[in-house]
Amino acid sequence: MTELSPRLLIVGPPGAGKGTQATAIAESFGIPAISTGDIFRANVKNETELGLKVKAIMDAGDYVPDSLTNELISDRLGQADAEAGFLLDGYPRTLHQVEFLDSYLEGKGEKLNAVVQLVADRDEIVERLRKRALDQGRSDDTEEAIRHRQDVYLRETAPLIDTYRDRGLLIEVDGLGTIGEVASRIDTALTDRGFRPVASAS
Ligand code: AMP
Repeated sequence: MTELSPRLLIVGPPGAGKGTQATAIAESFGIPAISTGDIFRANVKNETELGLKVKAIMDAGDYVPDSLTNELISDRLGQADAEAGFLLDGYPRTLHQVEFLDSYLEGKGEKLNAVVQLVADRDEIVERLRKRALDQGRSDDTEEAIRHRQDVYLRETAPLIDTYRDRGLLIEVDGLGTIGEVASRIDTALTDRGFRPVASAS
């Protein structure tokens, strides 16, 4: 009856260009890209009540408690611009958040309808990030630290990816290549699934 509204997630390892691709998808499909990390950072910067609560947690590199994160996401998804679809980046990150999102959407008679996974070889990403760290003189970004973040991502995200794969929602996209190449793979994959890009301005 109605056109398929894109209610999407994007997942991918640190360094795979997830944020850049999230912005590109959002633009192509006319939906907001919602990054919980960005929203938390903005709250910290503006010293809001939420920001003051989460600053120390974020500084320590820990997860913000599910209660706060879930509240934030339901507020954000309740805003008018997310009515016709959205792309979440950085959420859900725990199985509890997966359940919360399911029941939140179910309450509105909606469902998630695809999860884009950027897939990239771990060694290639490490090499890419190591080069960038050298170029930018980021000495804290040692190869060991980079590998550690990749391992944490794999460990924490694997159960979520399995859940979405079991539901038939996962779209695996090769994340290696130029920004444009990866973006066009994602566009094609989403279009094949029935999502319609908004008309381009040109
Ligand atoms: P990110 O930019 O996605 O890596 O997020 C930066 C920080 O925000 C994380 O290290 C967490 O402290 C917090 N954060 C972002 N998203 C979540 C989430 N879904 N659950 C818990 N904490 C989160």
